[in-house]
Amino acid sequence: MEEQKIVKTSYSALDTFKQCPLKYKFQIIDKIKAPKTKEAVFGGKLHEALEWFHSQTPLSPTLDQLLNQFKELWPKENSPFQGDEDMIYFSEAIKILKNYYENYLKIKDNFTVLGTETRFEVLLENPQNKEEKCLLTGIIDRIDKTKNGIEIIDYKTTKKLPSQEDINNSMQMSLYCLGVINRWPQFVENGIENIKLTLYYLKHQETISTHRTKEQLNNVQKHVWEELKKIEKSEFEPMPSALCDWCGYKKMCPMWKHLYKAETTIDDEQIKKVIDEFLGLKNNNTQNNKKINELKDIIENYLNREKIERVFGDIGYITRLTQLRIGGYDIKKLEQIIKTLPQPIQEQLKFAKKSDSKFTTLKISKKKPAAN
Ligand code: SF4
Repeated sequence: MEEQKIVKTSYSALDTFKQCPLKYKFQIIDKIKAPKTKEAVFGGKLHEALEWFHSQTPLSPTLDQLLNQFKELWPKENSPFQGDEDMIYFSEAIKILKNYYENYLKIKDNFTVLGTETRFEVLLENPQNKEEKCLLTGIIDRIDKTKNGIEIIDYKTTKKLPSQEDINNSMQMSLYCLGVINRWPQFVENGIENIKLTLYYLKHQETISTHRTKEQLNNVQKHVWEELKKIEKSEFEPMPSALCDWCGYKKMCPMWKHLYKAETTIDDEQIKKVIDEFLGLKNNNTQNNKKINELKDIIENYLNREKIERVFGDIGYITRLTQLRIGGYDIKKLEQIIKTLPQPIQEQLKFAKKSDSKFTTLKISKKKPAAN
């Protein structure tokens, strides 16, 4: 008999992999501790203050008590906020808490808090292999009892608001719903439509809510296992995006390491000149292919020697991109096309998605970002 295999994961680990496979490797597999970014500290302190606020009994704290508590929590030593930043972030947080409290006064009679920072776990079976199970854990910021049932609240400190459609399809919300059903089955006796799932955007004091159907919850299992299989096969490539500014591994990442490197050798000094010459020729659409190829070889050799994928000059930067190809076509572009096809055809094509070659290109970017 095949041995039962239980994989342990969390929603935040799956989310990290989606954001960037390399970040997942640093954080989850290699367990490298990274200093928290400013945004992470800012969001974390607000979460801690609200957890404190909603767990005081029998009387709710006043606004002054909430703000005093926040002052206590705000980092005094080893703070990531430098100079004026400290006051800017602190004032922003105070403004958020004042608005939160004002809003709380208007709605406080409509709910009672059942729990804050509540851990949950769900056991998800692999639909393709019943012997494989996944124990997924997570933490829910706040759970309220309302007149209509249960409301799960997740605080967000991001500026960008997602669309209603994003929330309706969010895996995070589905997993939280499963977690609550698992932990408090009595709450769903009247149906899962009594579980309201809410994201609370603190910077805007806006909430976006959704509900789940049984069918959606059944699909979560399949979706989680698809993600786990992707992780199993992953080569943990870096996936740079705007979120890199919130990543604590930026200084060791092959996409950014060069930006933070001091010019220690002649090689380092020369490469900047080579990059700027290469960028200059490319920007002017020069047809001097011989020179371009010479510079390209120097850049590729430097990337290999330094084990990095991106180099910065004074006028821009160059990124080495690796494309997996099938019959000469870029696999990522094919995947985008496959996603638009009907589900049965997508399933059939999944088995055919095997790359037959790797191809690298150098992508130029004209503006050099600041090292933060
Ligand atoms: S800096 Fe960006 S690309 Fe590098 S590991 Fe972090 S998220 Fe990924």
